[in-house]
Amino acid sequence: MTQTIKFEVDSDGIALLTIDLPGRSMNVINGDVSRELTELIEKVASDPAIKGAVITSGKPAFLAGADLDMLGSQAGSTPSVADMFKTAHGMNAQMRRMETCGKPFAAAINGLAMGGGLEITLACHYRVCADDPKIQLALPEVKVGLLPGGGGTQRLPRLMGVQASLMLLLKGDSITPQQAKAGNVVHELAPLGEIVARAKAWIKEKGDPVQPWDKKGFKVPGGEGAFSPAISQTFTGGNAMAQKETLGNYPAVLAILSCVYEGHQVPMDAALRIESRYFTKLMMDPSSKAMIRSLFINKQAADKLAHRPQGVPKFEVKTLGVLGAGMMGAGIAYVSAQAGMTVILLDTSIEAAEKGKAYSEGLVKKGVERGKVSAEKGEALLSRIKPTTSYDDLKGCDLVIEAVFESRDIKDDVTRKTEAAVPNLPVFASNTSTLPISGLAKSFSRQNDFIGLHFFSPVDRMPLVEIIMGKETSQETLARAMDYVAQIRKTPIVVNDSRGFYTSRCFGTYVAEGLAMLADGIVPALIENGGKQAGMPVGPLDVGDAVSIELGYKVREQTKKDLGDAYKPAPGDHIVDRLMELGRLGKKAGKGYYEYPEGGKKFLWPGLTENWPSAADQPDVAEVKKRFLYRQAVEAARCLEENVLTNPADGDIGAIFGWGFAPFTGGPFSLIDAVGLDAFVRECDRLAQQYGPRFTPPKLLRDMAASGESFYGKKAKAAAE
Ligand code: NAD
Repeated sequence: MTQTIKFEVDSDGIALLTIDLPGRSMNVINGDVSRELTELIEKVASDPAIKGAVITSGKPAFLAGADLDMLGSQAGSTPSVADMFKTAHGMNAQMRRMETCGKPFAAAINGLAMGGGLEITLACHYRVCADDPKIQLALPEVKVGLLPGGGGTQRLPRLMGVQASLMLLLKGDSITPQQAKAGNVVHELAPLGEIVARAKAWIKEKGDPVQPWDKKGFKVPGGEGAFSPAISQTFTGGNAMAQKETLGNYPAVLAILSCVYEGHQVPMDAALRIESRYFTKLMMDPSSKAMIRSLFINKQAADKLAHRPQGVPKFEVKTLGVLGAGMMGAGIAYVSAQAGMTVILLDTSIEAAEKGKAYSEGLVKKGVERGKVSAEKGEALLSRIKPTTSYDDLKGCDLVIEAVFESRDIKDDVTRKTEAAVPNLPVFASNTSTLPISGLAKSFSRQNDFIGLHFFSPVDRMPLVEIIMGKETSQETLARAMDYVAQIRKTPIVVNDSRGFYTSRCFGTYVAEGLAMLADGIVPALIENGGKQAGMPVGPLDVGDAVSIELGYKVREQTKKDLGDAYKPAPGDHIVDRLMELGRLGKKAGKGYYEYPEGGKKFLWPGLTENWPSAADQPDVAEVKKRFLYRQAVEAARCLEENVLTNPADGDIGAIFGWGFAPFTGGPFSLIDAVGLDAFVRECDRLAQQYGPRFTPPKLLRDMAASGESFYGKKAKAAAE
């Protein structure tokens, strides 16, 4: 058994509990911490020589919340409701015992406090926080489909007021110590070196062991109860807003609203039971389990480079070359300079290269204005980006990424020129979105050092990088590419070469299905709203316009040329052809599936229904949603079957973070698991019969259905090994 909390009592009889998990860089709540905390609370409560206690951390951060493994094992199991409630209520009972044991507890918050970490401090009678604006305090559970189950939904409203607390609970955003002080979440700010002394001083001088909400006459700041005008408005508006934003897909949002609404009107013991019940309900919900798995556990494993080939020494990019200073090159230059690299940004003219750097200047300016980066740091970042037109300047680069026009000839040319200028370049990468990597690699004499690094737009905001292995790419090159992705703090997924790779290929099916529906006579507004209600960030026609109809057309024509007779026409091809004839090329051209009136709001082009009349019978929105989600999921499964993807976890992460696949499902593979392989295959067969063979389930799914497997059961374990 490991000791996770150091316990000392000073000459004034004040105990100091220092949470310090051995062998870990960050404190988290796991079984050991939980058990020791319970024992120590009892010790403080029962020992007459102890006046009170201060809780702090022995690490730079205070406490990051629940342990991944603990949450993961709960997410992967199916306990009974009663057992889940017992577990869920355990932390609440422990915190409640601390705040009612008769001895004062104070928290000395030295660094980041998230989730359960912040909740422990909220159950203390007094909170002193280090006065450092970089410290983040948050209850981010909603982001993984959960609610703060350690009293957060009850204590935060009682400290800040219902409305202010809902802003934090429903968005999961973090606040600084200054904001926490202004919002009544902490009592005192102090220099880091003094927080423990101040917390002890409070115990010595005041040491009130009763929480405000346990005192007679306590009122929630800003109003309480269903009939308080401010509160009733908050909940009426909050409900409407929650519905608008989640379209009913995220149970955690409604559960948090319910917890606060019901809980703030009753005494704390009852309130905590309410919270534990909603927490239990969420933990039993397949959507929360899937979200925890993909957004939390598997994403963090990917961030820690779980699939990095072993035995390759760590690679550090100090100098990066970027070819092409357009939209993507400029973004890649920014994130890399932000991570401390020197960036040689090359284009055909110095004006174009400087325009690429100007993109970073704009972002830095905004960051400085918003106080997110200091002027000096911003200047330093910009000084690391060096615009050029000369390949000689690439000498000394550890990695060169090309992001020039999507043309084989141009890519071929810049690759050759780079190799001629830097013959010993360790890694060359292409940011192509459609051209097979193995083909492009032929322009580089060491094909094993050539790899695909597919970024998403806008690069500074999109968290994913799809790494594409060419036929000859070595494991060493893969490891080095992964190290670079980790350096720029993005999440990598690794896929094998294929047309459109994984993300573009599956994302394309979303837009294509929207067009197929249009061809079927489905009303355009139903198509767009159905897409959003399915959980996609925007409708398929909207995103088709944003990406550009012209680009989609060009990619299709190239595919046709490459595949010849093997090209399978899509049901909406004739729609794209017609829009191209009409010059409706997409948003950039000012017209596409939508009209974009100057200074006005965009609206669906009325010509859509004139050209492709709506059918008299319209489908139920549930059928529209299903077509969108199942079509993408079938394609993802094909990618796994064809070894484009090597494991479902990368598939789920790539789908959510790459093209915005409905996050509440946990990704396409989690969706198939939640539906059940057998039911999914049967439903796909029905869809294939009704709408076309694109829905036909691949053999992999039929085999798994027949043998009762699931992606995150036996099969997933085998893939991960
Ligand atoms: P862009 O047109 O904005 O930029 C391309 C840049 O390359 C231009 O500045 C151009 O002057 C420069 N260039 C052209 N020929 C050159 C040459 N011979 N030498 C040096 N520079 C040259 O294009 P983009 O949207 O940034 O796309 C670049 C690449 O990234 C393409 O391969 C594209 O498929 C891929 N990509 C684009 C996106 C996206 O959303 N736009 C996403 C992922 C990948």
